[in-house]
Amino acid sequence: MQTVTIPFIKGDGVGPEVTSAMQQVLDAAVAKAYSDKKIDWLEVPAGGSAFEKYGSYMPDQTVEAFKKYGIGIKGPLMTPVGGGIRSLNVYLRQTLDLFVCLRPVRWFKGVESPVKHPENVDMVIFRENTEDIYAGIEWESGSPEAQKFCRFLQDEMGVSKVRFPETSAFGVKPVSKEGSERLIRAAIKYALDHNRPSVTLVHKGNIMKFTEGGFKKWGYELAEREFGDALASGRLVIKDCICDAFLQNALLKPEDYSVVATLNLNGDYISDQLAAQVGGIGIAPGANINYATGRAIFEATHGIAPDIAGKDIVNPCSNILSGVMMLEHLGWNEAADLIYAALEKSFSEGFATADLARFMPNGKSLSTTEFTKHLISIL
Ligand code: NAD
Repeated sequence: MQTVTIPFIKGDGVGPEVTSAMQQVLDAAVAKAYSDKKIDWLEVPAGGSAFEKYGSYMPDQTVEAFKKYGIGIKGPLMTPVGGGIRSLNVYLRQTLDLFVCLRPVRWFKGVESPVKHPENVDMVIFRENTEDIYAGIEWESGSPEAQKFCRFLQDEMGVSKVRFPETSAFGVKPVSKEGSERLIRAAIKYALDHNRPSVTLVHKGNIMKFTEGGFKKWGYELAEREFGDALASGRLVIKDCICDAFLQNALLKPEDYSVVATLNLNGDYISDQLAAQVGGIGIAPGANINYATGRAIFEATHGIAPDIAGKDIVNPCSNILSGVMMLEHLGWNEAADLIYAALEKSFSEGFATADLARFMPNGKSLSTTEFTKHLISIL
């Protein structure tokens, strides 16, 4: 029997409900697909419940478990109030250097969408996770640090473009060659491994010439240098698109895009728009991965949804599909495919949680528990 230990964080709010659903569905699919494979779930503490028990929102043992097993899955976590860690998710990504935020976006037949042809959306977003304006280097308006930084810009860098120096807040946008290259390399390898036709570098380099423009330039150079054969043979096309145009094109002609590589802030906006195009954040999965060390944490992309926690109505699909990504990461594709097929069947027959079912012409609302059981019965 091949047993893989998966550390998991239940999460706060709706976290325990979506985690339980995900575990039941994954266990059922693995049991159906293989007689010799099994997941050994190892709960690790984080978030509000961990704070109550251990006095820490992210105890060291949790980070150590992710390091030891190299893989894990988490439900959504609350944002700690007052000092310490700003965001538990960002902390995990930075501590484990999970530099890719991977978001596959596809449509499931039967799910209502605000666009006419959601079936044309089939993209995989590689969002850089550790740099950009999200690095958290910023100073509040009026603070001594902001004023010092402003003086440095004016006196030492000859900057005269700060329009209102007295009241400006400042943020720094670091974008490195290494950081861009490792993200774009991972995206290109993924495209080649999964027979995807193109990688689009999405950037705002027309305005931010050295940061976003650097990302684009380094991306093309890397593609030519490391993947020249694949480009020359026509196996893969590398192209680029300015971010605002991309957001429009993704609505008008999503079929033009397959794998997308982009910086942190652009990736944040793009992921949510695309998720909305295929049915919303309730069914959008995600993962944070370091393709060099192989470490990966899979996660639901929605928050802790305190308004519906404990009511047995949360849609568990984001977490289930994150689990499916984890199965694919393990190479357990047969089990993953079974879950995709079960979701497709359930949605096409109108069986879903209320957030999706209420928009379906033939929708039949199920509670979280009923929907989970329904998926398992299909499996
Ligand atoms: P949210 O995603 O928790 O909720 C937004 C709205 O969407 C709510 O009305 C909620 O009921 C609904 N919703 C979310 N997920 C749903 C699901 N699976 N099924 C049905 N409905 C769903 O976002 P928010 O309100 O901005 O954030 C609440 C808290 O969650 C904050 O503390 C925030 O910091 C945290 N958060 C955590 C993560 C994470 O851990 N990955 C991500 C986002 C927000």
